[in-house]
Amino acid sequence: GSTIGILGGGQLGRMMAMSAAQLGYQVHVFAPDDHSVAAEVSAAHTRADWSDGAAMAAFADACDVITYEFENVPVAPLLALDQAKLAPGPRALEVAQDRLNEKSFVSELGGTPAPFAAVDSMADLDVAIERIGTPAIVKTRRDGYDGKGQWRIASAADISASEVAATAMIYEGFVTFEAEFSVILVRGRDGEVRFWDSTHNTHEQGILAHSVLPAPAIVGEQVSEARALAQRIAEALGYVGVMTCEFFATANGPVFNEMAPRVHNSGHWTIEGAVTSQFENHVRAIAGLPLGDTSAVAEKIVMDNLIGPEAFAIARHLSDPRAHLHLYGKLEAREGRKMGHITRVG
Ligand code: ATP
Ligand code: MG
Ligand code: MG
Repeated sequence: GSTIGILGGGQLGRMMAMSAAQLGYQVHVFAPDDHSVAAEVSAAHTRADWSDGAAMAAFADACDVITYEFENVPVAPLLALDQAKLAPGPRALEVAQDRLNEKSFVSELGGTPAPFAAVDSMADLDVAIERIGTPAIVKTRRDGYDGKGQWRIASAADISASEVAATAMIYEGFVTFEAEFSVILVRGRDGEVRFWDSTHNTHEQGILAHSVLPAPAIVGEQVSEARALAQRIAEALGYVGVMTCEFFATANGPVFNEMAPRVHNSGHWTIEGAVTSQFENHVRAIAGLPLGDTSAVAEKIVMDNLIGPEAFAIARHLSDPRAHLHLYGKLEAREGRKMGHITRVG
């Protein structure tokens, strides 16, 4: 097919659309946003709500293959579409959208998440504190990103009854880790799997700040076990495209944090730092093309996120002539908002 549909209108879709255009595809974005930075670089934009079945059916008719740049696309409307067009399939979204399902699914595949328990009431919270202990993190099961919807808990007093009652939560024991890393893989329609190198990821205020190669030695020691789990997840889901799993490297081996059924911020370095980027390989995979080489082109690669208004200090960012600056074209630089990134290779 020659038209790729992307569900979601943010920067991941924008970079995916740029790779799709390079390979000669037309891109059609479906996103409710007034201003979509993905649609800005695409041929067409259906601006409609996720629940607008007629708009989604027309969008699907116009596309040869449909993918996601946003993991919280509601699954129900997708089930009404031609399933052969969806890559990856909606089951991957279903698992990844709910932290409880995700951690149960991964445990069944032999992965080790943080100890966890469902919390729907203050009574559940007391049981979880008793069983798992503190410190802990209570997270909303759905819709969290960039550390939003999370409460760090030393005792039950650190979260209110009304917060607990507002939405379904998961209680996670606090993991003491030496480093965070992600496994980013691409799986083709024929089942071939390739992995990019795992960066060392550091967060500031719950938001990814830096992804750096080479990662510390402990990541190198744990990456093969983490990759094997990520591959089992992809195979169990019949996954096609790029998939990401986040891990904590701990004294007891890799602890699974969460998965993303899509390209990932910690893979932005691959645009200039790998032979084939995550965006290009995602397009290749869903289009049924041969996958490209995922090797890194240098040993030392640094990706720095540009968060909030600092993104617009363009002269400063470009004062290093080797800096690859990416700005996502967002109109408003709110505090804590991902506005762009810079990659340095070598
Ligand atoms: P993303 O933007 O990556 O989707 P998110 O909002 O889904 O983030 P998580 O990845 O669950 O949130 O958590 C954000 C960060 O908080 C993690 O990368 C890690 O640094 C820290 N964190 C989360 N869960 C735990 C835990 N159980 N123990 C220790 N640290 C944790
Ligand atoms: Mg997340
Ligand atoms: Mg995360």
